[in-house]
Amino acid sequence: EEVKESPRIHRLHESVVNRIAAGEVIQRPVSAVKELVENSLDASSTSISVAVKDGGLKLIQVSDDGHGIRFEDLPILCERHTTSKLSKYEDLQSIKSMGFRGEALASMTYVGHVTVTTINPGQLHGYRVSYKDGVMEHEPKACAAVKGTQIKIENLFYNMIARRKTLQNSADDYTKIVDLLCRFAIHHIDVSFSCRKHGAARVDVHSVATPSRLNAIKSVYGLSVAQNLIKIEAADNDTSSSVFEMDGFISNSNYVAKKTTMETEKLADPIPICNGVRGSKVVGCPQCQVESSFRGESNRLVECTVLKRAIEVVYVATLPKASKPFIYMSVILPPEHVDVNVHPTKREVSLLNQEVIVEKIQSMVESILRKSNESRTFQEQQ
Ligand code: ADP
Ligand code: MG
Repeated sequence: EEVKESPRIHRLHESVVNRIAAGEVIQRPVSAVKELVENSLDASSTSISVAVKDGGLKLIQVSDDGHGIRFEDLPILCERHTTSKLSKYEDLQSIKSMGFRGEALASMTYVGHVTVTTINPGQLHGYRVSYKDGVMEHEPKACAAVKGTQIKIENLFYNMIARRKTLQNSADDYTKIVDLLCRFAIHHIDVSFSCRKHGAARVDVHSVATPSRLNAIKSVYGLSVAQNLIKIEAADNDTSSSVFEMDGFISNSNYVAKKTTMETEKLADPIPICNGVRGSKVVGCPQCQVESSFRGESNRLVECTVLKRAIEVVYVATLPKASKPFIYMSVILPPEHVDVNVHPTKREVSLLNQEVIVEKIQSMVESILRKSNESRTFQEQQ
């Protein structure tokens, strides 16, 4: 009888390790857009525009008017684990930026071609440089530039045949990108966003900075959504264990979600919550955006499946016809109650006392919906 030899164990080549890791951080074009927009937000931009070709596989271009990147940092910009945001582990507790791991740009260079154009405040010209596998392909070249940074990702997943094939066959990732930008736009209302297909005159998302959340929702999702929303607010400051503040808007019983587009439903949703599509196709769109600290600090878009489900359940029970609600919700927690480091794409965070918080928000939503339902029934009987 033949005895099978034990297999030898060997070390994987660094480039293999990096490409595998990159494929987890950048799962599809929309994940790259999310990372790039978050970087622009972290750079204190007031205006962010996105252009996309071929659902993001040919080109993703994100331009901002933020603080730019220093010339002397360009050589290490796209290396793994290089960041301006975190120095020691303990900083994670009080992190105010959305990024912290220095992994996004590096990942993009392992699965696509990255070109960065940036200018520092007060400089006469900017620099442009391309990266591959974490390193610069040439010395930065001086170039004309407007304030801020522009990052271009070309040929995403050119070296991941299977991934590229699945994405090419799947319906449009552009829809997901538009959807993501809509959600950024109604959350970061002090920033202007735009999103278009590369070369197209028409913008598919266009928001102008405004102090009013409702205005932002109106300009992004349309009047038909904005006029059927109820303001919701809740806070728990008594029990020290579940301190939180929540505010947002939820759709009322008059809100009828348009038919859900099939593509967005059948694809596994890789990003925070919600399968909403803007314009006339707005569908139920529970959005939960957890702010990782008290007022005025970093805001991250994350998935909170538990909260989403809890709210959907209430809608189904209270307003069966409006069972696909529109929900915008911002939950503010003390930073030490949020663990941001639980998911490679940072799309999920874990919250302390999640059950208590979710239950409180759920019962609040329920009572508001009941009230709005009763007053409507009452009006109809008049
Ligand atoms: P992280 O965001 O976790 O720090 P990234 O790989 O996303 O890691 O970015 C690395 C660094 O590059 C950031 O820490 C930041 O200093 C710089 N950077 C990236 N994008 C921008 C941008 N749009 N404007 C200014 N600086 C940027
Ligand atoms: Mg980042």
